[in-house]
Amino acid sequence: MAQLDKTFPTLDCSICILAPKMVEVARHPRIHLLTFSEVKKVEAKEEGKYYEVTVVQNPRYVDAEKCTGCGICVQNCPSKTVPDEFDEGMGERKAINIPFPQAVPRVANIDAKLCLKLKDGKCGVCAKKCPVQCIKYDDKPKETVIAVRSIIVATGYDTMEPKLLDRFGRGDFKNVISSMQYERLLTASGPTGGVVRRPSDGKEPKRIGMVLCAGSRNTKVKEYCSKICCVYSTKNALLTIEHAPGSQVTIFYNDLRVAGKGHEEFLNRAAQQPLISYVPSLPGNVEEEPDGSLTVSYVDARTDKVIYTTFDLLVLYTPIIPSKNSG
Ligand SMILES: Cc1cc2nc3c(=O)[nH]c(=O)nc-3n(C[C@H](O)[C@H](O)[C@H](O)COP(=O)(O)OP(=O)(O)OC[C@H]3O[C@@H](n4cnc5c(N)ncnc54)[C@H](O)[C@@H]3O)c2cc1C
Ligand code: SF4
Ligand code: SF4
Repeated sequence: MAQLDKTFPTLDCSICILAPKMVEVARHPRIHLLTFSEVKKVEAKEEGKYYEVTVVQNPRYVDAEKCTGCGICVQNCPSKTVPDEFDEGMGERKAINIPFPQAVPRVANIDAKLCLKLKDGKCGVCAKKCPVQCIKYDDKPKETVIAVRSIIVATGYDTMEPKLLDRFGRGDFKNVISSMQYERLLTASGPTGGVVRRPSDGKEPKRIGMVLCAGSRNTKVKEYCSKICCVYSTKNALLTIEHAPGSQVTIFYNDLRVAGKGHEEFLNRAAQQPLISYVPSLPGNVEEEPDGSLTVSYVDARTDKVIYTTFDLLVLYTPIIPSKNSG
């Protein structure tokens, strides 16, 4: 939720809802929050009367108690950059980074695979620049065993990577992106400051195509309905015409499924917008043009005619799948 700009169906600011709750949880005297941690093992004791949970807190190489989140280390770090996970690869980050501005706790952490000091013993710039001396290059993973009576698993889900889909270029077309990447482009605190720019050349796309059921309700990929794509694509279409004046959005759908309160009204509102079109069709093929645009062929179910349309940017709404860390 922290990655989203707005939420359907009210278009409330996502982080404005989430940030105060994260802070409240972190400060609550009866809640013990273990961040940057993974559950390694769960063991039932006394025939399930209670459980022993082994949690590993990953090393941050930064003392989280002392770090003020000032970001001086990030500005000065000379490491090479890699695609930023929080921005779904649409932006870049360095070895030392603060995952996102409202992170709880808002502290830096070092990626050991990138850090020049941890890899080769060179650099050490962050330790020299940090005004509160909180860099700990000798930090180690910490294992804690906690006894609990019950466990709520809330590990969420991921969206399937577009590169697993042949029909849409297997990730080779720069301007075919995932729905979560598109959420990052729409977000004011995202890599483009909320201006939608296509990855190949940074131009603002005017013709944006969105493909729903890109892999969902398909026996060869995932046979189930992901349930949220019809509504969050509608949200993204409404945000697009607001963020990018002059843009037009075409949503290709299998059939529209809206289950929640106020969702149908939300969809009807979008369908009345002249800049948003809903097309009943699942695109058959996508070709990349020399300028990076994408020509999509599809059969419009209303006319049964084969149509070719070119888009500047194509957003795939792929199936939601179990979170990779929940196995
Ligand atoms: C692109 C997109 C747009 C959406 N837009 C909207 C919208 O506008 N409005 C709306 O109402 N809903 C929207 N949704 C749906 C909504 O985001 C989800 O339903 C909601 O985030 C689910 O919350 P959750 O807490 O169950 O899971 P998540 O938000 O997925 O959180 C699960 C957390 O568990 C952590 N985790 C996973 N495994 C482990 C482990 N082993 N140990 C420790 N931690 C772990 C993950 O890192 C993650 O932080 C959207 C979803 C997507 C994908
Ligand atoms: S020591 Fe590592 S994290 Fe610190 S500034 Fe150098 S490369 Fe960056
Ligand atoms: S590690 Fe030091 S310099 Fe970096 S954010 Fe924390 S306090 Fe600031």
